[in-house]
Amino acid sequence: MKKIAFFDAKPYDREWFDQENTQYDIRYLETRLTPTTVQLAAGSDAVVAFVSDTLNAEVIDKLYELGIRVIAMRCAGYSNVDFKEAYGKMNVVRVPAYSPYAVAEHAMGLLLSVNRKLHRAYNRTRDFNFSIVGLTGVDLHGKTVGVIGTGKIGRVFIDICKGFGMRVLAYDAYPTKDTSIEYVALDDLFTQSDVISLHCPLNEQTKHILNAEAFAKMKKGVFIVNTSRGALIDTEALLEALNSGKVRGAGLDVYEEEADLFYEDNSGNIMKDDLLALLVSRPNVLLTSHQAFLTEEALQNIAKTTLQNLDEFFSGKNLTNEVCYQCELGKVVENCRKNRKERCF
Ligand code: NAD
Repeated sequence: MKKIAFFDAKPYDREWFDQENTQYDIRYLETRLTPTTVQLAAGSDAVVAFVSDTLNAEVIDKLYELGIRVIAMRCAGYSNVDFKEAYGKMNVVRVPAYSPYAVAEHAMGLLLSVNRKLHRAYNRTRDFNFSIVGLTGVDLHGKTVGVIGTGKIGRVFIDICKGFGMRVLAYDAYPTKDTSIEYVALDDLFTQSDVISLHCPLNEQTKHILNAEAFAKMKKGVFIVNTSRGALIDTEALLEALNSGKVRGAGLDVYEEEADLFYEDNSGNIMKDDLLALLVSRPNVLLTSHQAFLTEEALQNIAKTTLQNLDEFFSGKNLTNEVCYQCELGKVVENCRKNRKERCF
């Protein structure tokens, strides 16, 4: 029976992996994968990791030394993996889609809450404060939403927005041929949108795609939604834009420096991240802890696909969901081995 070291295991992971697993000896480790904890993978045949784990060169080299030849990411995003280091050493597989609906619906949930101040209303009524002063929002109907990244999640979000009667503009470095999507230049999206929602991956081109320069171009009173990756936004620039009133509200499921904080109960600790403290102190910011994926359907799909990815690896098959540093660019690479139905190396 192949042994799997499963890092940063949470009760909801165990529930669904135990339900779907028939053939692996899974060792659930509560700790995150870091250079300090990597040794815990000793004796395992594979590592299952998550966005919160550190898969830098040091960790990858150590895993290789321990005989690990496959990393199964139980998530879609993979900006925390040093693919160049992994290339030729261990195959990296992921779960490209588990429920675009879960994330897109959460993005709309954040927008609705921030706009209509539901998070504040909830606190007020719990205290029998039934004043509605200061809770005014805007109609979303008729407003323009700018969607950056029109992949699986972005497209579901577009459909949801259309259902709300919003005008949708989109920007994508690799636009689809879908003629129902109105693609515009990024600057035009910035200048015309009342809401901007991020659905692109984090890479060299997209890091701080929302920076001071971008905020300067936006309409006064724009709403920002980010369910993709924290570093798509320059947090200091966002704070300034919130302070100046340029940004009317922000619904964030991700944060630039979330890795050491999210998924853990830090309520008893002094928050040392001043930017995060400032962000959550703003009444017009709603921050959730990278939970947009968290639906039963998504968790079941994550478990199923991760186990299928491992089955393919151990049976020597082509790896349907493999990614490497060339795939990472999100474009079709010439001579890509995947096109020939081969593993990335
Ligand atoms: P996807 O690969 O289907 O779509 C990403 C889109 O972004 C593609 O259309 C791609 O062409 C586009 N893109 C690539 N580079 C770009 C650039 N420089 N500028 C603009 N667009 C660019 O991915 P998806 O499944 O829709 O996921 C989107 C993102 O959502 C992921 O990258 C991940 O970071 C995030 N995500 C978050 C959660 C969560 O729980 N918060 C869960 C799943 C995914």
